[in-house]
Amino acid sequence: MRPRAAQVVVLALLVVAGCRGGGDAAGPAAAPTAGDPGATGAATTAAAPSASTTVPTTTATTPPTTIAPGTCPPERPRAQPDPRRPSYEVSVTIDAAARTASGTSSVRFTPDLGVDRLVLRLWPNSPAARSAGGSMQLERVEVDGRPVTAARPDPTIALLPVPVTAGTTVTISTSWTITLADRLSERWAVAGSGVRLGSFVPLLPWEPGRGWATDPATVVHGEATTSPVADWTVTVAAGDLDVVATGTPAGPGRWRATAVRDVAVSAGRFRRVEGSAPAGPGGAAVPIVVVADAGVAEDPAAYLARLVAVLPSMARRFGPYPHPSYTLALTASLRGGIENPMLVFQGPGTLGRSTSHEVAHMWFYSLVGNDQGRDPWLDEGLATWAEAGFEGTLPSIRARRMPAGVGGQAGRPTSYFDARVSQYYVGVYVQGAQAVAALGPPPLVDCALRAFVDRHAHTIATNADLLAALTPTFPDAAAVLGRYGIKP
Ligand SMILES: [Zn+2]
Repeated sequence: MRPRAAQVVVLALLVVAGCRGGGDAAGPAAAPTAGDPGATGAATTAAAPSASTTVPTTTATTPPTTIAPGTCPPERPRAQPDPRRPSYEVSVTIDAAARTASGTSSVRFTPDLGVDRLVLRLWPNSPAARSAGGSMQLERVEVDGRPVTAARPDPTIALLPVPVTAGTTVTISTSWTITLADRLSERWAVAGSGVRLGSFVPLLPWEPGRGWATDPATVVHGEATTSPVADWTVTVAAGDLDVVATGTPAGPGRWRATAVRDVAVSAGRFRRVEGSAPAGPGGAAVPIVVVADAGVAEDPAAYLARLVAVLPSMARRFGPYPHPSYTLALTASLRGGIENPMLVFQGPGTLGRSTSHEVAHMWFYSLVGNDQGRDPWLDEGLATWAEAGFEGTLPSIRARRMPAGVGGQAGRPTSYFDARVSQYYVGVYVQGAQAVAALGPPPLVDCALRAFVDRHAHTIATNADLLAALTPTFPDAAAVLGRYGIKP
């Protein structure tokens, strides 16, 4: 999309230019564990989606007119985003040599409930970043043009003592500087010639109908963020580096995104390839961009080829890909992948299951959100289920044994796993997929999940929402998921 003359490499299918990367807390997913085929083995099965990925398509496109247990729910129009969603205007300047990203943000926010304070989350102050020398300094806060002093009960939380009545719009403006860690396997880092920025804007942790999500930051290789979908304009200055960002290019160094719950940026010296896949509404082509920073030796075309297979497969199972495009940035010093709306970061050597896992997050996290601190299984377990269907790894997922203290605890919050960091992946990702697999035949699970997606698109969903969507097809869904510790 945004060609950059300097580092362009022309490939047969594609073109060259700059973009960005990402990395999922699924980092552990990229590190094969006992009984798990891992990325390399998975790659061989990916090109030919398994029956479980194709059968649901047929089933879902010929829905019954009534819902009987054991059948697919009828398709329904996907829920539309809240027209009163927040709107952000962000400007950030990246200085890779100085390891800083400084910027301003202004967000218009209309709470649907009255509040006695406003809350922002400063995720670059997460424990992993701080322990590696990273931080975020909030330098100015204004509400409707008036300076406000923020209380800081936690490095990741800023409380603004400004009451707002339901339905009233306020504008919160901030300026800030992020100090980036060096080669940290996280979303705020300088690595190779590149810079990763994810969840870097002071975020409104608003859960419509519920209030502020102030879950503690986590030390697991994951995230505890919660934010409603919003509209964004993001302007990025990064010197002579190539840049990719969440959104659609809207001029030099500028992107716009509609109804996404976060934005990310990757800057570096990129080799770039482009393609497309029929994964949009009605089979419309979805543009795909893969960039590889100079610090990554791998061929981005291999990742592109895999994405061309993954996106349509997920779209057949869970409904059309929800965004105008998909970008993958391969950057150095990153384990696994990190999902951001429209833009995923992956590290070297993650062609296998990390690629399909992160694509799945565009449905389970980006489109249907969740409180990732309270219910981390809801996006990680479902993304792992989706990944397993594509990779053909469901048998090995089912066979994994849960360690003591983790079995039956898939529904726990990230804080539970802060004392069990090494068990987070198996306890939440694998066990979450096991729970879903226990519901019934994979094609039926997929079409029930599609109903969940259609009903709760653009929202922050809960376990109760999922159960309500599953129960018409699986009347015993509450009992089945309850065995894994997943409860409303
Ligand atoms: Zn994940």
